[in-house]
Formats: sequence, structure tokens, C-alpha cells
Amino acid sequence: MEKKFNLPQRIRLANLPTPIEKLSSYKGYNMYVKRDDYTGVELSGNKVRKLEFIIADAKEKGADVLITTGAYQSNHARATAAAALRTGLKSHLLLTGEEEPIKAGNFLLDLTFGAEMTLVKPENFYKSVEIMQGIAEEYANNGQSAYIIPLGASNEIGNFGYLNAFYEILEQEKELGIEFDAVVCAVGSGGTYSGLLLGNYLSGSNKKVIGINVSQDKAYFEEVVERIANGSLELLGLEKKIDKSMINIIDGFVGRGYGLSTEEELGFIDNMLKTEGIYFDPVYTGKSIRGLYQTLSNNPELIGLEQGSNILYIHTGGFFRLFAG
Ligand SMILES: *Cc1c(COP(=O)(O)O)cnc(C)c1O
Repeated sequence: MEKKFNLPQRIRLANLPTPIEKLSSYKGYNMYVKRDDYTGVELSGNKVRKLEFIIADAKEKGADVLITTGAYQSNHARATAAAALRTGLKSHLLLTGEEEPIKAGNFLLDLTFGAEMTLVKPENFYKSVEIMQGIAEEYANNGQSAYIIPLGASNEIGNFGYLNAFYEILEQEKELGIEFDAVVCAVGSGGTYSGLLLGNYLSGSNKKVIGINVSQDKAYFEEVVERIANGSLELLGLEKKIDKSMINIIDGFVGRGYGLSTEEELGFIDNMLKTEGIYFDPVYTGKSIRGLYQTLSNNPELIGLEQGSNILYIHTGGFFRLFAG
């Protein structure tokens, strides 16, 4: 579908379009998965789509170094470090975690990419923005320009990644001869969800856009999504029109907390591997797709779709978790 607005510049990093595959039907719903875990290898997962726009902005502003933050096993930090190498930039990661980081998974890749690192204790992580600003100043003192990417690349520029992905889905609907009634994703920092919501709004396609939060709570993400989605509309020169009534986030699946798992969650992930042959990670995709299935089974009114509806779950990545020890 043609866009009635001009997206800002973007650098090509992701392998697009990502495929859409059918899963086994569930409780009478037709389940599909969009494999955004296939956006690449080193550069895999959802952050790559956001980084295409954010790094274009960084380059335009003359950046030499990308600074960002996350947990030791952050997919976003790893994707940023890889994307920096591909685009001729340096990266500096501010990472945190409860215990000494294990040299495995994403963290091992970060080390291998040669990313600069600052490690911070979890109790000091609330100061991460301030610390990143301090790191940026140090670069400035050495004559280098640093560009700070927020947690999860979720901001008004990062949103364009999933705004674009929504239009990609509309194209794929035509090719596949399927209309999706709902698009569902994990909500970890909010940018994937708000991008999809913007796509739905701007294309007028009237799908249900459903998020399942894996950290914080629904009220927190309603604030975030409203703010950054309207920020994107402003950048596009459009009226700010996103309000909380348009946001559909299903709460109740954070479980023991961000990054922590329950037996039930791990059992669900194992079952998806054994029945569908697809790996969903415990931090984001496993929790959220389990939340989707549980809701379809126990509270279908929260989703509000007829049996026989087509539901598209966005697989946002997390593969390296499998090798994180
Ligand atoms: C970051 C991440 C998410 C969450 O996306 P947000 O845009 O931050 O809400 C989901 N899945 C994976 C694998 C991620 O790395």
C-alpha cells in the first residue's frame, strides 16, 4: 500500500521482507508468525528495523560512536554493536546484570565485535541515561561525536522500523491472499508495538494491534506508546492523534519479572519447539506468545475476535539466548 507520507531516510541493514509462516491452529483461530527473528544473523531480531532509521539519523548528525544500553544479554546492544561495524561507526555499550556476565550468547558477540563497554551494577542502572551522557561527553572531549540510542531503540525515530513493517505486512497480505485480523507482539520497551500501531492508524487498515508486556505494566506502556507514537507523527509533520484508547496491551504475563522465567513458561517454550520447530526466547517472545495463547484460551473477549480469525504474531528474535548459558 502506498504511504501518504514520507518516511525519513533509512540505512538498509535487515533482510526484508521477513517471511510469514503458518502455525498450527489454536482454539479455532488461524495462527501465523512473522519471522523477524530472520532479519539477519548477527543483526537479527526486531532492533534491526529500528536501527535502520536511527543509524541513518546518527550518520546525518555526523556521529562517530553509537552509545546504548541494556542487560548483559541484551539483543538490542548486540544488534547495535553489529550495526555499528556494518556502518563504519564505533559502539559503546552500557551493560548491567545481577551477576558477573557469562561470556556467552549476546555478550560474547559484543566482546567479539570489539564494542567498548561500561558495566554498571543493577542498583545504579536507574542512572543509565546520565551515565550515557557522561560517556558521550568523554568522546566529545576527545573530538568524537557520540549518538545516544535509548533502551531498546524505542523512540520516535525507532518507531519508523515497525511502521514500515506494518506496510510490509499489508503487501504480504496481498501476496498470500490472507487478511490478518490482529497483529500481536511482545512489549519490552514499547517501540515495536507503537510502530505497528502507527502503521495501523496511518494506513487506516483497522486491524487489532495487540501487545503483551514482558516488563513493567500496562499503564506504564500506555504512557510510553502514546508519547513516542505522537512524537513520530510530529516528525512526519502530521497531527498527534494517538491516545490511550487506541492502545491495546494485555497485562498479566510478566510472571516472576523481566528476564525471569517460570516452569510453565519454559514448558510452553519447549512445547513450541517440539510441535512447531520454532524457538521462542524466555525473555520476550516465549512469554508473550504464551500470553497470547493463554488469553485466546481463557479470556478471548480481551482480544475480541471470532473463531476462524487470522492472527499474526511477530517473532521479534532472541535466538542468542539459546547460547547464553
Ligand atoms: C527488544 C525485544 C523485544 C521488545 O520490543 P520493544 O520494541 O522493545 O518493545 C521483543 N523481542 C525481542 C527478542 C527483543 O529483543
